[in-house]
Amino acid sequence: MRRKIAAGNWKMNGTAAALTELGALAPHLVQDGPDVVICPPAPLLYRAAEVAKASGIHIGAQDCHMQASGAFTGDISAAMVADTGATFVIVGHSERRDAHEETNGDVRQKVKCAWAAGLTAILCIGESGEDRAANNTLDIIGGQLSGSLPDAMTATNTVIAYEPIWAIGTGLVPSLEQIIEVHDFIRTRLITRFGDDIGNAIPLLYGGSVKPDNAETIFQAENVDGALVGGASLKASDFAPIIAALAAS
Ligand code: PEP
Repeated sequence: MRRKIAAGNWKMNGTAAALTELGALAPHLVQDGPDVVICPPAPLLYRAAEVAKASGIHIGAQDCHMQASGAFTGDISAAMVADTGATFVIVGHSERRDAHEETNGDVRQKVKCAWAAGLTAILCIGESGEDRAANNTLDIIGGQLSGSLPDAMTATNTVIAYEPIWAIGTGLVPSLEQIIEVHDFIRTRLITRFGDDIGNAIPLLYGGSVKPDNAETIFQAENVDGALVGGASLKASDFAPIIAALAAS
């Protein structure tokens, strides 16, 4: 049985007042059910980790630097993330690959830093609308996987999130067949590269406009082990039914 994970990416939303959402979410965690991870903005990490301690909610950062330390004004290292009490970090989100021009090589370095700090990396990959229209989806996904996933992956240090860029924040969602095709492809690639034990153990999340009303359908796919959720993770009242749908899948 693979770990099921519902992860929320708050992006650049929320100040300390938003932490009340963690308290509202806590009663919706299911015993022996999915792991729930909330990734708030960096200034909230420490307080979020303190608030979440008693509830079993895991806290993650949205990014870390690709170096362990140094003269990088304004940046945050993986060790600093871990020091807040956070245990996960998102790396390679398309908004960072795009707005901060992060390459697969940069993302690979970030994953290594995350591991060195004892964090679980949530590695994001996904094709653009143009890639999809040109029938290049699997090539892009294969390239991102081989380019940004270091060789030292273990069964527990990584989660992979397939997030088609055209589905993020747009309300557009791939068909179930399209989601199945990409997730099965990722699973096969992982098994080929890392072997059965590791390849089968890595949770694969789908991300891109997951909402309470489409979660049940998405979680039907055998190789979808959870979701990375943006907008619908900001309010416990939206995120809780997604967690419930995952628990029931
Ligand atoms: C995301 O930012 O990772 C994401 C999936 O956003 P949304 O759920 O809002 O599409």
